[in-house]
Amino acid sequence: MGYDIRTYGDPVLTTVAEQVENIDGKVVRLTQSMLQAMYKAPGLGLAAPQIGVQKQIFVYDIDGTPTTLINPKIVEERGEWVFDEGCLSIPGLFVEMVRPKEVLLEAVDLNGNTIQIEADELLARLFQHELDHLNGVLMFERMTPEQRDEALREYKRIADAGGPVGDPRHIGLK
Ligand SMILES: [Zn+2]
Repeated sequence: MGYDIRTYGDPVLTTVAEQVENIDGKVVRLTQSMLQAMYKAPGLGLAAPQIGVQKQIFVYDIDGTPTTLINPKIVEERGEWVFDEGCLSIPGLFVEMVRPKEVLLEAVDLNGNTIQIEADELLARLFQHELDHLNGVLMFERMTPEQRDEALREYKRIADAGGPVGDPRHIGLK
């Protein structure tokens, strides 16, 4: 079954998702639906709340390897990196934002093993962006007040125009 991607204004996007206690068949099927929705969008990553499910799960694929992470948390972060960040739940908007360049992420995989992943640049940004989704945080909250004002105006322009026009410079990010 297909899921629609929830967009800005949907309260599920500003709610803290629940920890996953049990990795059962239902969770596995959910992650398959998440990957489907992500590839269809298309995007590089997707968090469960983006399809309306309040669970601490995100999926991603930046190099041809679909990966699922459960109950993730960032345990270390370093440096600064600027990236033109976008969000499948705020379609059409891209804003240059500064965030830590490297992170160490700890999570549980689908086999129930706790794993740690060192990430740099794009992958580190993806981890931070998806983790924010699990905590009910959208990009707007990571912007400076000036960026936020401008971004909200721009997003309203895009929405009023009937949605984003495909822009080949941008891959739909998350
Ligand atoms: Zn997003």
